[in-house]
Amino acid sequence: MQMKLSTHELQGQVSGSLWTPDDPAYEQTRRGWNLNINHHPALILAANNTQDIAAGVRFARQNGLAIAVQSTGHGIHTPADDSLLILTSRMSGVQVDVAAHTARVEAGVIWQQVLDAATPHGLAPLVGTSPHVGVVGYSLGGGIGWMARRYGLAADSVRWVELVTADGVLRRASPTENNDLFWGLRGGGGSFGVVTALEIDLYPVATVYGGYMTYPAPLISEALRFYRDWVKIAPDEITSSIAIIKAPNLPQIPEAMRGQKLFIFRAVFVGDEAAGAATIQPWLDWQTPTGSTFRQMPFADIGTVANDPVDPQATHYSNEMLDELSDEAMEIIVRRATDSASPLMVSELRHAGGAISGAHAHPSATGNREAQFYLQMAGQTPTPEMRAAADAYIQDYKRELRPYLRGGVYLNFLRGAEAHARVRDAYSPESYQRLVALKAKYDPDNMFRFGYPLVEAEPAK
Ligand SMILES: Cc1cc2nc3c(=O)[nH]c(=O)nc-3n(C[C@H](O)[C@H](O)[C@H](O)COP(=O)(O)OP(=O)(O)OC[C@H]3O[C@@H](n4cnc5c(N)ncnc54)[C@H](O)[C@@H]3O)c2cc1C
Repeated sequence: MQMKLSTHELQGQVSGSLWTPDDPAYEQTRRGWNLNINHHPALILAANNTQDIAAGVRFARQNGLAIAVQSTGHGIHTPADDSLLILTSRMSGVQVDVAAHTARVEAGVIWQQVLDAATPHGLAPLVGTSPHVGVVGYSLGGGIGWMARRYGLAADSVRWVELVTADGVLRRASPTENNDLFWGLRGGGGSFGVVTALEIDLYPVATVYGGYMTYPAPLISEALRFYRDWVKIAPDEITSSIAIIKAPNLPQIPEAMRGQKLFIFRAVFVGDEAAGAATIQPWLDWQTPTGSTFRQMPFADIGTVANDPVDPQATHYSNEMLDELSDEAMEIIVRRATDSASPLMVSELRHAGGAISGAHAHPSATGNREAQFYLQMAGQTPTPEMRAAADAYIQDYKRELRPYLRGGVYLNFLRGAEAHARVRDAYSPESYQRLVALKAKYDPDNMFRFGYPLVEAEPAK
């Protein structure tokens, strides 16, 4: 769709920047972290504040534009073509209330900014593996981080949310205000409006015992079996994952590692060094790792546990959930993860349970809380052909695994066509219907159609 927008009036209402395809800044800003998404919005608004967002939403409504929101671009899955794309990264304010153990976070804040503000006070947020991911997108999708088994998902620690809904009105959602929206926003994704700020809980955790250890290719099968047994005795203070990695032939990978296969065990223990070391000692008793970074570390260093890439990447990924690791499921996972012909780079299992599945003071839309393992499979896919190949491989991998799967998925780890086709599987049937009703109430015209679709109609193009 080609359209000529008259942006003059909107320019007079916002203090932020407006860019059309004719502006040089448009080209520099339209894409986010995931380079697989190469979208061409009709208009970009780099918002400075809540008023800019409200004006942008009203303008989009008057001009029949759908609205997309981009903070970092780690989570975009549907190209926001012909839309109004609202960039939030300038809204980067973080206010920590040290006494209350909370942080008020603006729309564009990334976890690193919360770490910088909170850790000097001995307080820690429920960050995930990458401190460069946005707080809002991560938390709306659920948010499984390094303290999830101890303190729950990030969505469980959201105290209130402020957002501009499709009618251009600023609303506050909390346990006492717009409680239906508060329920749906936490786990329902960004389908109900543009979040301008939210408040999250912080936890009194100054240091953790954590890191990763690696085992060589010949031990991969045995290490996975060991992990299955070890998680049965792992206390809720420890959140862990294993990854089976095929290092790609890329210049940024040390030469000796390229093409190599590897088993990585990662974990974070909330507690003191002696207790943390005792928890992972069974691994050392089992086999000496080829390398280990486990240590008592300041929480500020939490990003070193996974060392996720910071620079933009073209990645494609998917996920499934399992209630248990049967011998048959493990055989498939190891075979697929080490298959030399596979276009995938990593198969990762995160151990869930603990506080994720426990009782929560304020129920939310987040589903599949009883799942024990999140399985994520990912590949580097810089070309459409590579993306198609990775997708086809993933679907085949899943077909083989199907008898052992729970049937649920995790919203934050869905990409491509599955980000539309599998959304129902992220919820119980009751929660899904409730989300669809909520969407019809707050966004009847589906203006926010680039998040995870919560409408019975055809998904976004
Ligand atoms: C390297 C990497 C590591 C990750 N690690 C984890 C992890 O450990 N645990 C986990 O749970 N997830 C993880 N994720 C997934 C991540 O949480 C999601 O991709 C999330 O959507 C990213 O949010 P963002 O704001 O950074 O991205 P963006 O692409 O900017 O936003 C993603 C979506 O969130 C919504 N959104 C963002 N801001 C707003 C807003 N202000 N108002 C309304 N909607 C909004 C929109 O629908 C938007 O399309 C990881 C992803 C990557 C790429």
